[in-house]
Amino acid sequence: MTGTIMKGIGGFYYVKCDSGTVFSCRARGRFRKDGQVPMVGDRVEIEITDPEEKEGYVTKIGPRKNQFFRPPVSNIDLLLVTFAISAPEPALELIDKLTVTAVSQGVACAVCINKAELNREKAANLAKEYALADFPVIVCSAKTGEGVDRLKDLLKGKVTALAGSSGVGKSSLLNAMGENFTLKTGAVSDKIQRGKHTTRHTELFPLSFGGFVFDTPGFGSFEVEKMMAQNLSAMFPEIAKHGGQCRFPGCSHITEPDCSVKDALNRGEIGQNRYNSYCALYNSLKDVKDWQL
Ligand code: GDP
Ligand code: ZN
Repeated sequence: MTGTIMKGIGGFYYVKCDSGTVFSCRARGRFRKDGQVPMVGDRVEIEITDPEEKEGYVTKIGPRKNQFFRPPVSNIDLLLVTFAISAPEPALELIDKLTVTAVSQGVACAVCINKAELNREKAANLAKEYALADFPVIVCSAKTGEGVDRLKDLLKGKVTALAGSSGVGKSSLLNAMGENFTLKTGAVSDKIQRGKHTTRHTELFPLSFGGFVFDTPGFGSFEVEKMMAQNLSAMFPEIAKHGGQCRFPGCSHITEPDCSVKDALNRGEIGQNRYNSYCALYNSLKDVKDWQL
């Protein structure tokens, strides 16, 4: 039987079979000899040992489209970078680190701006900046319901990582889409470890209209920290688009004169906030030497 690993806790993998039944499985396959460990999101083959108790073994792991280590998860179709326009104030540098993670890993990225009813003008301005980067943008409000249908269309049939700080409204948006579960990956008491201990785990939640979501507040910063500064501009699609005609080869697009990126910024073809994030990230990376990567 084949299925998808929905979560893994204490050496058990919860595999949702294509028939819909969930089996709790241990790992027992050739892949273990190669040092491979099953991950949430993996497509796997299982051997059922006890149909009554719904137990079995993971015997084979299918090829992965992509894999991440913080949190450990594979086969993501979409990274949905979610923030609130206000309450809490958007942490733009962090948000743009998430878009960089998606682009650098070749994962499709979209931006969801929630609580739009709190400041429509600011929401429209930021939406424009992300549209200039060619990311699909959804301006929405879990409170008024605007944009919720578009969000539903976007998530349908995909495995989506909901990336965004707590409090931005991820659970509220799922509820507004008619899903009646709460994302609660933060702290789950692990009964196996006597109830007192709390562990973080990643869990895929099935969407009633098709697809899966999981919550991942601190997604991917690790990947970005390992990047070299001179590679950063390629991870900002709107900067990459306008680079290449600068006077100096290897232009950082920050201090050099005759820079085509700064020209595009002045023409409004690159968003000022996005550019600021680029500069801040560039400066945080530029002291990292090759040998440290
Ligand atoms: P999560 O931590 O990202 O899952 O965020 P929650 O869904 O728990 O929402 C955090 C808070 O923001 C709650 O008090 C919600 O009622 C509120 N909230 C969520 N969406 C909206 C919205 O569109 N507008 C406003 N004004 N508040 C919202
Ligand atoms: Zn330049």
